[in-house]
Amino acid sequence: MMKNEILKLLKTSDIYISGQQLCDKFKVSRTSVWKVMEQLKKEGYGIEAVRNRGYRLTSSPDILSEAEISSMLKTEWAGQHIVYYDETDSTNNRAKDSGEKDGAHGTLFVADKQYAGKGRRGRTWESPSGKSIYMTILLRPELIAVKAPMLTLVMGLSAAQAIGKVAGLKAEIKWPNDIVINKKKVCGILTEMATEIMYINYVVIGIGINVNQEYFPGDIDKMATSFYRETGRVFRRSELIAAVLERFEENYRIFMETKDLSGIKEAYDLLLVNYGQEVKVLEPGHEYEATARGINDYGELVVTLPDGQKKRIYAGEVSVRGMYGYV
Ligand code: ATP
Repeated sequence: MMKNEILKLLKTSDIYISGQQLCDKFKVSRTSVWKVMEQLKKEGYGIEAVRNRGYRLTSSPDILSEAEISSMLKTEWAGQHIVYYDETDSTNNRAKDSGEKDGAHGTLFVADKQYAGKGRRGRTWESPSGKSIYMTILLRPELIAVKAPMLTLVMGLSAAQAIGKVAGLKAEIKWPNDIVINKKKVCGILTEMATEIMYINYVVIGIGINVNQEYFPGDIDKMATSFYRETGRVFRRSELIAAVLERFEENYRIFMETKDLSGIKEAYDLLLVNYGQEVKVLEPGHEYEATARGINDYGELVVTLPDGQKKRIYAGEVSVRGMYGYV
């Protein structure tokens, strides 16, 4: 799309880009170029137009749109097709609909607001507008179905690495599906899939990241945090989305080489918040204490029980807590 590419050019150039140059490049009239600039201004971008010199980007707001996100992307396939919603029920639902049709591998669904954001086991994910990231990537991996849950960990590692890089914050992984900063939840991941006999038809990995939120409703306020809360600074969401996808593309490549987590296990364990610590394992109807020892090649959490016995925990129905709180 011309608008996406013009925005990308403006963002990557620190000199004026002449109108004529743009006309030649896209084989359109001056008026069409001018119209794109007017659209971008309306969306909130600061664009300076100087006669005989051209256009220059002076400011870009923290807005989400297809053009804004793709102007930040450096990936080969992840997010090469973006579907953006100002508001939707949940980006996972949108991605699943697309998965049922002919949505392509790597398509990214992003919303500014969700009115039915979901966590695991039917819990809700608070998803107010203008502040945070709600996005889902659609995948069609050549993988047997039992391996799909490992993709949650691939995304978990990618999100933690991206958050660390963009915000300069120490983001840690709370196995299997959350990212925490200073022991508070900043990001949640929800993987859903559809299978055909043994093989996967599609997998969707949804991720919610609290970026610029100041408050959370009710009890969540005590256990949740955002980049803004941790730093007092406002962050550009599109930059973070691009960073997550970049990390994901790389980690997914490593994962698909062996179709297990052996290639990223070390990096994952380094960021595991409970590593070497005592945790409470909550199984349905049964709770016990153990020490977390990191993950294995299949994404199970390995723990040791007080009597020294080793145990592997499969994510499915289990939650892990710290001894005295959420982490
Ligand atoms: P477990 O620790 O058992 O995996 P969870 O607490 O991580 O479970 P999820 O399903 O991942 O549960 O996420 C939903 C829960 O996260 C909600 O029940 C709520 O407590 C909390 N939550 C909801 N919205 C947000 C948000 N925007 N930021 C942080 N936490 C949230």
